[in-house]
Amino acid sequence: MAIDPPVFDNSKVTVIFVLGGPGAGKGTQCGRLVEDFNFCHLSAGDLLRAEQNREGSEYGDLIRTCIREGTIVPMEVTIKLLENAMGAALKEKTSGDGWTKGRGRFLIDGFPRKMDQALKFDETVCLSSVVIYFSTTEEGMLGRLLERAKTSGREDDNVESIKKRFRTYKSDTMPVIEHYTGQGKVAEASGNYVDCLQRTKRIAGG
Ligand code: UDP
Ligand code: MG
Repeated sequence: MAIDPPVFDNSKVTVIFVLGGPGAGKGTQCGRLVEDFNFCHLSAGDLLRAEQNREGSEYGDLIRTCIREGTIVPMEVTIKLLENAMGAALKEKTSGDGWTKGRGRFLIDGFPRKMDQALKFDETVCLSSVVIYFSTTEEGMLGRLLERAKTSGREDDNVESIKKRFRTYKSDTMPVIEHYTGQGKVAEASGNYVDCLQRTKRIAGG
């Protein structure tokens, strides 16, 4: 049986995954990378929260429960949301803004958080090129999350959920980072932007 190729050709579309524990600063640093390198930034968590709040979504309750419990939403849901968002971005940005026709550079933030997602995305959506990994201490992350909790309005920015998110990160996400480290694809950046910028320059040739 022939295996279908991925939806997006990795010679035309570049996918950079951005990983790191909860509150490691992924979203913040991605925002800066977008300004400097013209990436399209997709946050898996944001896409899930949008789907959760979309009227008529059949996944709303499932997503809400997973996010509160700090567990991983079944991969089919998240992968489909990412695939749709990538397709939409490519259609929108076929010219100008440093994007050439049909090409795209994506920073996918907070994904893949579990091995099954990593393998499935690489195989069916687009083979990823690099993983930027923000390594920070649990203490640092907790501090940031509690600070963020004051304004984020996020249902999972509370001590109970945060503890569960740390647990899931260790059990499910660390193996993903080890997997890509084994493939030589991981660029580790401590939470500071200069470090991250230098590493991304090397990857993106910017
Ligand atoms: N999530 C998920 N799959 C993903 C990404 C996120 O199930 O691929 C869920 C998971 O429950 C996670 C939550 O969304 O705890 C929030 O993710 P986000 O990346 O927004 O948060 P952070 O990294 O700040 O914890
Ligand atoms: Mg985030």
